[in-house]
Amino acid sequence: MTFVITERCICVKDASCVAACPVDCIAGTQDDPMMFIDPALCIDCAACAPVCPVNAIYNETELPPEQAQLTAINRQYFSDRDGALDQLRSRTS
Ligand code: SF4
Repeated sequence: MTFVITERCICVKDASCVAACPVDCIAGTQDDPMMFIDPALCIDCAACAPVCPVNAIYNETELPPEQAQLTAINRQYFSDRDGALDQLRSRTS
């Protein structure tokens, strides 16, 4: 399993989650609209979720249905950043 960052992060990018994560699996460049969690490294510790000021982070098993695609988008970001950002744009445009 993994934790997933949802669209609530867009334009907020508080990034408190980055400091809370013990395995440094949360990433996002200055140009990215939001942060992303690498599911290959996430150890499901849940430390990131409570520090997010906009409650953008969920266990993948508890994602709101309308955010289900964010599991794949978070994953894709780490192998195909441009493709993941395209997917995100197509959801929010
Ligand atoms: Fe990092 Fe733990 Fe959050 Fe996974 S659940 S992203 S390991 S802080």
